[in-house]
Amino acid sequence: MAELPINVGSVVALPKPRLDDLLAKLREKGYQTIGPRVGDGTVQYQPIRGASEMPQGYTSEEEAGKYRLVSSGNSRYFDYTPGAQSWKQIFFPPRITLFDLCKNGGWKPVGSLEPSPRYALVGVRPCEIAAIKIQDLAFLRTDFVDPVYQERRKNAFILAVNCLRPGGTCFCASMGTGPQLSSGYDLGLTEMDDVFLVDVGSAAGKDILSGLPVAKPDAAIMGKAKQAVDAAKTKMGRQLDISDLPDVLLKNLDHPEWEAISKRCMSCASCTLVCPTCFCWDTQDHSSLNGTETERERVWDSCFNPGYSYQAGGNTRPNVRSRYRQWLTHKLGSWKQQYGVLGCVGCGRCITWCPVKIDITEEIPALRKETRS
Ligand code: SF4
Ligand code: SF4
Repeated sequence: MAELPINVGSVVALPKPRLDDLLAKLREKGYQTIGPRVGDGTVQYQPIRGASEMPQGYTSEEEAGKYRLVSSGNSRYFDYTPGAQSWKQIFFPPRITLFDLCKNGGWKPVGSLEPSPRYALVGVRPCEIAAIKIQDLAFLRTDFVDPVYQERRKNAFILAVNCLRPGGTCFCASMGTGPQLSSGYDLGLTEMDDVFLVDVGSAAGKDILSGLPVAKPDAAIMGKAKQAVDAAKTKMGRQLDISDLPDVLLKNLDHPEWEAISKRCMSCASCTLVCPTCFCWDTQDHSSLNGTETERERVWDSCFNPGYSYQAGGNTRPNVRSRYRQWLTHKLGSWKQQYGVLGCVGCGRCITWCPVKIDITEEIPALRKETRS
C-alpha cells in the first residue's frame, strides 16, 4: 500500500497502541524523551522510555491549595492537568554549574559548557508552549543570549497535546494561550478513544512520522476532535478579565489589598518556583578549602526571598506586602512593557500549589474594586 503523503499542516491518525513507536522513533533519532510520570502523588516530567511509564488511567483534581491524582476510569494518557513541575526545569535547570575556575598562576577557566542532549518533550500543553515562548523572550534576547538556555533549547522537539480536560484552577482561555494548540510544536496530538490525531507542525515532526503506521482520519473523528477541543474552552475552572491589565495594577500601587494579602501570604516562594514563566535566579560560588578551585552555580531564586532584593544600603522590598506586590505587578503589569506580553499563561499552578490558597484570579478583581485613577 502506498505510504500516506504527509506535509507540515497535515493531520493524520495514529492508533493508540503505536504511541510507543512514536517514542521509539524519537529516541532512534537521538532525542532524550522526557515526559509525564506519576511520582510523589503528582505528575512529574522525567525521562521516559515507553508509554507504559506515562500516567494512563489517571486524572487530576485541582483547587486552590490542592492537587490529587485519581483514577480516570478510562485508558487515556493525557487526562490529567500538569503538576507542580513545568518544562522550565529542562531549559533553565533549578541548579546548574556555569563555570569552574582553577588557580594556576592566575585564575583560569576549567572545561567548557557541556553540550546538551537533544530533548524531546512529550505531552506539552498549549499554555506550556506559551510559557516556553515567554522564557525565550527573557533568555534569547536580541542584546543577550543566555548560553545555557540556548544550548538546551535549540534542538528540542516538542510533542504537544491539546487539553481536553482543563483543571479546576486553569484559566488559559482567558489568557489566550489554550486549551487549543496554535503554534510552536513539532507534532500536536489530540487524544481520542482509539487513536491520536497528529497535527504535523514542523519538518522535524514530519520526519519523525515517516514510516509510522498513520492513516488519513475520517471526517467523523475529525469532527469529534473539534467538538472536544471546543468543549474544553468552556470547562475552565477559573477565568480572569485581562481587558484593563496592566493599568489596574500599575495605577493601584497603594491599594489596601496589598496590605490585606500580606497578612495571608507566607512569602514562601512556592508560586514562583512552580510558575513556568518566572525566571529569577542567583549565583553561588563554592570554593575549595585550599583556595585553588571554585565553582559558580546558577540557582533558581524568587522575588519572594528577602535576600533577592537586598542591595548595598538595605532591602528595597523589606516586607511581604512589597514582595507580593512586586510579583503580581510584574507578572500581570510591567512584564507587558518589558516583553510585549503578560507574564502569565493561565496554567493555574500558583493557585494549586499555594499553601494558603491565594488565587490571582481573585486578587485582580479585589484590586479592581476600589480602583483609583
Ligand atoms: S502567594 Fe502563596 S505560594 Fe506565593 S509566596 Fe505567598 S503563600 Fe507562598
Ligand atoms: S502566574 Fe500562576 S497561572 Fe500564571 S503562568 Fe504563573 S503559575 Fe501559571
